[in-house]
Amino acid sequence: MPDVNLTQLDTTPVVLLIDDSQFVHRLLDARLRSESISLIGEHDGKVGLERAIEEGPALILLDLDMPVMDGFETLRALKDEPRTRDIPVIVLSGMNSSQDKVAAFDLGAVDFVTKPFELTELRARVRSSLKMSALLQMLSQKAQIDGLSGLFNRTYFDERLKGEYDRAIRHGHPMSIAMIDLDHFKSINDTYGHPAGDAVIAGVAQVILHELRSSDIACRYGGEEFVLIMPETNPEQAYNLCQRIRERCETITWARHPTRSVTLSAGVVGADDGSSINCTPSAWVEMADRNLYSAKQAGRNTVKASHINGSAVQITQSKAG
Ligand SMILES: [Mg+2]
Repeated sequence: MPDVNLTQLDTTPVVLLIDDSQFVHRLLDARLRSESISLIGEHDGKVGLERAIEEGPALILLDLDMPVMDGFETLRALKDEPRTRDIPVIVLSGMNSSQDKVAAFDLGAVDFVTKPFELTELRARVRSSLKMSALLQMLSQKAQIDGLSGLFNRTYFDERLKGEYDRAIRHGHPMSIAMIDLDHFKSINDTYGHPAGDAVIAGVAQVILHELRSSDIACRYGGEEFVLIMPETNPEQAYNLCQRIRERCETITWARHPTRSVTLSAGVVGADDGSSINCTPSAWVEMADRNLYSAKQAGRNTVKASHINGSAVQITQSKAG
């Protein structure tokens, strides 16, 4: 297995311990302290499942013998639930029967540790499962990346939009999205060939990445269309961000066609307060699309923005050079 340095991950991996024994919680808390993990715990399967959904831990340590909902039942529920399905589970059990081990593996456990713990062994297994989990995360992220632009792909966008939309509603936070479309892109392809068109897609993607903040999500929507998700961003701020992208794009000199600049148009839609959002994620895309259309109608190389409720955006943009 290639070496993955856990300290290079964005955050300390969260490990969820589900065990009815307070002693096991104290023991693992003490013995796993030296690992760079954050250990959280629950004492029964039912609450453990809820906690797993809520926290999305990198790894679950699961006791088999528990009242209310035993480990097998909990494991089955974790594997049935789309939000926890991919979290690796190490089963902890005092029952050292191969039948139990087989059952646990059949249900999707990645590993099995028998109580009383050999703590060095447990630490090694936790470490190896976390490495595996980090690798899987990297691979799945790769599958969500568009090869030409290096941005997230459409599938990822659909999924992520839903998530950010739910979060904005739950916390009453602002959120905006933008649809961006290159102007007259077909004529670039027709005049200079497809490699030139591809270079433009890749170049504009770089401009977008350069202007975005780390919390923004940029995706290639398809063809010459891009879409941005901007959490914690009101439509005025999103408008200004898209203006910067638009301005930067028109100043690029393209190696394959230095005399022909490329411009883009954008449609922005957003809300100041997510709790007031009263429509579906797809209605956001439609609204952003409508604003994009109106930007095209207005002569292209233009950004049009509105609030999701239809009201106009107050433009306070200071024109950059
Ligand atoms: Mg137990």
